[in-house]
Amino acid sequence: RKWSREEIIENAEACDVRFIRLMFTDIFGVVKNVEIPRSQLEKALDGEMGFDGSSIDGFVRIEESDMFLIPDLDTWLVYNWNGEGGRVASLICDVDDQNHLSFLGDPRNNLKRVLNRLKDFGFTSFNLGPEPEFFLFKRDSNGNPSMNLNDHGGYFDLAPTDLGETCRRDIVLELEELGFEIEASHHENAPGQHEIDWKYSDALTAADNIQIFKLIVKTVALRHNLHATFMPKPIYGIAGSGMHFNVSLFTEEGNAFYDPNSDDQLSDIAHYFIGGLLKYAKGYTAIVNPTVNSYKRLVSGYEAPVYIAWSGQNRSPLVRIPAARGNSTRVEVRSVDPSANPYLALAALLAAGLKGIEDQIVPPHSVQRNIFDMTQDERSHEHIDRLPETLKEAIFEFENEPVILEAMGEHISRNFIEEKTIEYEAYQEQVTQWELEKYWNFY
Ligand code: ADP
Ligand code: GLU
Ligand code: MG
Ligand code: MG
Repeated sequence: RKWSREEIIENAEACDVRFIRLMFTDIFGVVKNVEIPRSQLEKALDGEMGFDGSSIDGFVRIEESDMFLIPDLDTWLVYNWNGEGGRVASLICDVDDQNHLSFLGDPRNNLKRVLNRLKDFGFTSFNLGPEPEFFLFKRDSNGNPSMNLNDHGGYFDLAPTDLGETCRRDIVLELEELGFEIEASHHENAPGQHEIDWKYSDALTAADNIQIFKLIVKTVALRHNLHATFMPKPIYGIAGSGMHFNVSLFTEEGNAFYDPNSDDQLSDIAHYFIGGLLKYAKGYTAIVNPTVNSYKRLVSGYEAPVYIAWSGQNRSPLVRIPAARGNSTRVEVRSVDPSANPYLALAALLAAGLKGIEDQIVPPHSVQRNIFDMTQDERSHEHIDRLPETLKEAIFEFENEPVILEAMGEHISRNFIEEKTIEYEAYQEQVTQWELEKYWNFY
């Protein structure tokens, strides 16, 4: 809903809010908080809350560290919890630099910049319905997370197999209180794995909601003595966690991806958008799969994509078009995982899709077979290329893709490449358990 400055001040008083979390997201997708007591609320609403930007990874150097948090009033949320010392509320903020100019190293500001291009194309909104998956692990008697899964259930299983059910139900209730319109909540394929879906909205709101969602999931899980993780592949040999992005473009007339008169009831716009998503897939993979661990998920056999292709129903390619049409016509991007920064991921996918529309990129024909079952020859014959296999390869592709570099902007691109290269190298130097088991005795 829409909030005015005065309404927020009144609401804070009425709900006896004691603390307000001013939230923003760093380039790694991690939510940062500056918590203020209610006495500082008016100052915060006026955009006068300063913080030290140099202590945020990938933001700024020490010499230019004074930054400001500019709350988006419409993100005002009052939580149910009566935490230590009183009720908590939050506001999601944009970041201004020391001169009170929009700071382009802030992923949320950057997404707004890219969303501005919608107007040039005559679109009124870019929509996202995310499908985040996560695992619940048990905590030990000291409350520390353990590697023991919370249950041994499977897809759509019900209690008593599904011990995570009560926890998930609590998460859903909490989200509903906060205004999320939950569409589905179920056990996923792997033991201990869950998914909660809510109704799509415009990209900016949806990205904000993903950040709030993660916070709620982790908080409620802790209350159940569980540890929730959005790490893409916590356990070898079972499915990893994706965060499929269902996206669409609307104009004044409605869903621009829908055309009742075409063969597949998809418009030319939809086809070009898919064309862009496929053409720039290698370039944006580092953004939507930003961790070393992300690439452990993108392997054959677990409903996670490996190949750059699109399909009507099959779940093996990068892009799937769910059967729904009319206003629900959408493109599901299946590579995105929950370690992605949602603001950056949306900016990258939108840039790729808009470039497809601009250049009228016709996608190759869709693939109806399970790509995992095809031979390498068959895939070559169909010109099906694969996604980058490692974070290193993905960074290289990103560095060499002007369309995606532009979508991230100079500041974010530079810092992202720098930090992710360090991350990859640190990983590369590790000696893993697998290597020891394989070579220690063998050589
Ligand atoms: P799946 O087909 O993978 O099972 P789900 O039904 O779990 O997908 O999730 C569908 C998601 O797509 C929901 O978040 C829903 O709100 C969203 N969605 C529906 N219509 C649109 C649309 N026009 N644009 C974007 N997302 C949409
Ligand atoms: N867990 C699968 C993934 O890694 C997706 C399963 C599904 O289709 O919902 O993407
Ligand atoms: Mg799923
Ligand atoms: Mg899906």
